[in-house]
Amino acid sequence: MMDRIGIHWFRLDLRLNDNPALYKLSKEVDTIIPIYIYEENIEIGKASKCWLEKSLESLDNELSKFDSKLYVFKGNPKKIIHKIIEDKKILCFTWNRLYDKHSIRRDKEIKSFLHKKAIVCNTYNGYLLSEPWEVRNKSGNFFKVFTPFWKANFERLLNKEKLLSLSNKYKFYKKNINSVLKIDELKLNVPRKEWMDRMLSYWDIGENAAKLKLKKFINKKLYNYSTGRDRPDTDFTSKISPHLHFGEISPLRIFTEVMKSNIEEKNKTKYLSEIGWRDFSYNLLFYYPEMTELPIQSKFEKFPWQRDKKNLITWKKGKTGIPIVDAGMKELYEIGWMHNRVRMIVGSFLTKNLLLHWKEGERWFFDTLVDADIGSNSAGWQWIAGSGADASPYFRIFNPILQGKKFDPKGEYVRQFIPSLDKIPEKFIHSPWEMTVEEQEKYNFVLGRDYPKPIVDLSYTRRRALDAFKKISE
Ligand SMILES: Cc1cc2nc3c(=O)[nH]c(=O)nc-3n(C[C@H](O)[C@H](O)[C@H](O)COP(=O)(O)OP(=O)(O)OC[C@H]3O[C@@H](n4cnc5c(N)ncnc54)[C@H](O)[C@@H]3O)c2cc1C
Repeated sequence: MMDRIGIHWFRLDLRLNDNPALYKLSKEVDTIIPIYIYEENIEIGKASKCWLEKSLESLDNELSKFDSKLYVFKGNPKKIIHKIIEDKKILCFTWNRLYDKHSIRRDKEIKSFLHKKAIVCNTYNGYLLSEPWEVRNKSGNFFKVFTPFWKANFERLLNKEKLLSLSNKYKFYKKNINSVLKIDELKLNVPRKEWMDRMLSYWDIGENAAKLKLKKFINKKLYNYSTGRDRPDTDFTSKISPHLHFGEISPLRIFTEVMKSNIEEKNKTKYLSEIGWRDFSYNLLFYYPEMTELPIQSKFEKFPWQRDKKNLITWKKGKTGIPIVDAGMKELYEIGWMHNRVRMIVGSFLTKNLLLHWKEGERWFFDTLVDADIGSNSAGWQWIAGSGADASPYFRIFNPILQGKKFDPKGEYVRQFIPSLDKIPEKFIHSPWEMTVEEQEKYNFVLGRDYPKPIVDLSYTRRRALDAFKKISE
């Protein structure tokens, strides 16, 4: 009898474990062809490209343990899939669902195309704890506010099915397929090799690394998460965001492992609620598909954003003269990641003190974050700009000096990323411009030479932002 062959299309689910689509396919067919298609016309940031290449290599390596490989293609998915199914007799096709408008449109088209060719096409949730349509309020509408959203989601999850684990019975395809590329032929690594190598040196990439990171986080950091998570000068968050973004680990595994752990309830629930914010971001993206470009609150369409290329570049380079902002921007460029508290501080500074459009910040983050994610990034930026669904009220403008003093009290985070401030005493680390000339001399420090003067006056720009907001609210 002929082998029944199926195809699993890997997208943002670059793992073999807890992969519902892959698992279910293995029950339908004898042999699975694991494919990945790199779509050139989909925007992907430089840092993400670097991560993607390593993640694909890692998945390919896992598949080699089954004497198979990842069949990699480049181009238009519909055309590529058309070609593969013309060459081979395919019974069934699977993928895990995505929720942005481009993916939804593309997937619908491919699904109906496969149906016309009499190929069964099944899709699953492998990316979120719950899909947007599964969490609704009592009147059947979607949630616009996080707290009730998470309450309903959490209750639903407590009754959810168990994790799926890798079945040893997986049998992957071994023969050649036309037009398959080697991973390095995708040319994902970027010209700035030095930057890329440095950034990647901070990370272990792939499914096994992600599982190990979760284990270590639960054993060593989770016990202090609810207070430690806000302190960029300590290391109490999980740094699992890029692994989650690329689907090297499933949110359901995180939920299950955290729930199983013997850690105090308040830390477990706080951590899981952060994973809940990720679901909430996708809930928003699904119901406001234009939120990557347009403000969720339409009154922000007439907000008087400024255009100031010089200030934007200064912000990107971490040379604003506000230490906690600059440290964050340097961390981003160095590691491809930034602490959540600092993402909020630099975001508030850009959109409120500099009055630059949140989209400018979102674009820079998208290019430089290894966890750059269409849902969480646009939701994060709309939240901090005040234009989101459950946004921080506009008048809550972060004071970066107070934020620094509260969350980096000794200035250790600032010193780590801005060595030229190392010699400054704690008292001035978040506001070096307050030092007198004598004090500067005492510490062999010259403002304007060793570190820039602030590019804006924080009190004046705060008032300016509030005035601008008042105008669009009238
Ligand atoms: C302006 C701005 C932009 C952001 N852009 C992104 C982005 O592109 N990609 C991204 O994954 N996160 C983004 N976030 C959310 C958050 O900053 C990161 O998820 C978090 O810092 C990742 O570090 P961690 O894994 O150590 O987090 P932990 O504190 O360990 O949290 C665990 C996981 O929960 C999720 N999570 C935590 N906080 C949030 C949040 N506020 N929104 C959505 N999910 C959250 C992440 O998946 C994270 O990995 C953004 C936040 C802001 C304010």
